[in-house]
Parts: sequence; C-alpha cells; structure tokens
Amino acid sequence: MVDPDCLFCKIVKGEVPAEIVREGERTVAFRDINPQAPTHVLVIPREHHADAATAAAADTGLLDALVREAHEVARAEGVVDSGYRLVFNTGTGAGQTVFHLHGHVLGGRGLNWPPG
Ligand code: IMP
Repeated sequence: MVDPDCLFCKIVKGEVPAEIVREGERTVAFRDINPQAPTHVLVIPREHHADAATAAAADTGLLDALVREAHEVARAEGVVDSGYRLVFNTGTGAGQTVFHLHGHVLGGRGLNWPPG
C-alpha cells in the first residue's frame, strides 16, 4: 500500500529527493535531513505502515527485513564495532513526526542512556 500524501512514500517513489544509501527489495535507507549523530540514516519499508506495531501486526517478515537492513547500513557506515542505536519513535508523545514506519540508525558518537 502507498499513501499518496505521505512524505516517505514520495521518497520511495523518487518524487522527493533524498540521499539514498541502500535500496533493498522491501526497504530503502536514506540520510536523515536533520542528523542527530555522525551516522543518522532512516530505514523504511517501501510499503506504507504508520509505525512499527502496525507493520508487525500486518506482516511480521517486514520488520525482520528492516532490522537486517539497518544492520547492513551500520556495517557500511562502520559503526557496528563502536555500537549503534536503532530507534522506532512510536506516537507523537515519543517524538514521531512522520507516520510511515522508519528506523533511525544512529552512531558515530557516544549515545547516552536513558535517551532524552
Ligand atoms: P520521527 O521524528 O521519528 O518521526 O523521525 C522523522 C525523521 O525524518 C526526522 O529525524 C526528520 O529529520 C526526518 N526527515 C523529515 N523529512 C525528511 C526528508 O525529506 N528527508 C530525510 N529525512 C527527513
């Protein structure tokens, strides 16, 4: 499913430009426009799902593919050994602003816990 009004669906279709770093059969990974770390890449499914829970309920295999792809992004960015964070903001109160599932791959600097 594609939502014609969704920004990330438009990136998947090439209607909005993005710095794409990897393309998979089911996923696209591109650099965040407002990076919060030296590595800040968003991994999204080609299909439109509002968030991780919705995608898991609809199709469990999709999240597996997304997490595998996030790890490949981290490997390509050279942040596996130093450690990286994969974040799914879920809901406005947690900071989700784009309602097309995306995993933030963050790395390349020390990451505090708990997050802000
Ligand atoms: P959220 O706050 O977890 O929903 O994350 C949305 C992310 O999308 C934010 O980190 C934004 O900086 C990022 N973002 C918004 N528009 C674009 C864009 O056009 N290209 C790349 N990243 C974007």
